[in-house]
Amino acid sequence: MPASKYDAIPLLPANRAPLSPEYPWPNGNKAAVFLSFDVDAESAWTAKDPKNYERLVTVSYGGFEARVGVAKLLELLRQQELKATFFITGWSVEAHPAMCEAILKDGHEIGHHGFHHLLPDPGDPLIVDELEKGLDSLKRRLGVVPVGYRAPLGESCEELRVLLKQHGFLYSSSWRDDVRPYRHLLADNTPGIIELPVTMTYDDWMYGLTHRFSPRPLFPREHVLSIWNDELAETRDWGGLITTVLHPQVSGRPMRLKLLREFLDGVKTYGDVWITTGEEIAKHFAACEAKSA
Ligand SMILES: [Zn+2]
Repeated sequence: MPASKYDAIPLLPANRAPLSPEYPWPNGNKAAVFLSFDVDAESAWTAKDPKNYERLVTVSYGGFEARVGVAKLLELLRQQELKATFFITGWSVEAHPAMCEAILKDGHEIGHHGFHHLLPDPGDPLIVDELEKGLDSLKRRLGVVPVGYRAPLGESCEELRVLLKQHGFLYSSSWRDDVRPYRHLLADNTPGIIELPVTMTYDDWMYGLTHRFSPRPLFPREHVLSIWNDELAETRDWGGLITTVLHPQVSGRPMRLKLLREFLDGVKTYGDVWITTGEEIAKHFAACEAKSA
């Protein structure tokens, strides 16, 4: 019998980090919402095919972010008196410096989201390039050295985890396997960076964006609010963390903005859910970890 390629799969869990510690949230809060946005702009579309840059209607989905979406979201966050994290691709920083400066000026956290929004596939030499070029754009254009990273297209791998640690990142926000922050354990058994896990429940792309290449049904406000509020209520009971993955080309649209406003109003009515940036949550985790060591 020929050896199967599946024989190479280790008989071990892929994520060998210990279970997440149940550190209390600060100031008597029962749960936390990591309010975050992925600013892909046109790179969401050119990552799939560079030629999409010439398909002007296709890339115009992304162009909405700089023309309308980001400004509307910043206005909402000012009204709500909230700070959020914006994970921005290097390409977006280079092509839309004014949009990114506006985010920075409002005091939000800026995180790394690749350069061309390329999927970090194991063994791909572009992983290093994407990370380094993204860092260079954030530093040169905005003077920012990010502490947070979100993997483009929601994928990651061991070499990227190692690179993030080497580059001094504090946290990643890409994994889907928990409802609380935890610290990665690298394959060599050394501690990695902190993970602020996400769930597709709060990825607005799933409900609010359709395109001829990726047609999806659009979900009305009532359905999305029902999903978001149920997940929030239960996560709060569990004392967990909710991480949003919102895109200005979706949530910056008129009815989606209304939906987000209503959701945030709802979170606030609990009075004991901490809405904040990834940096604040990761720093809180690190402080609890140091105290319990
Ligand atoms: Zn993205």
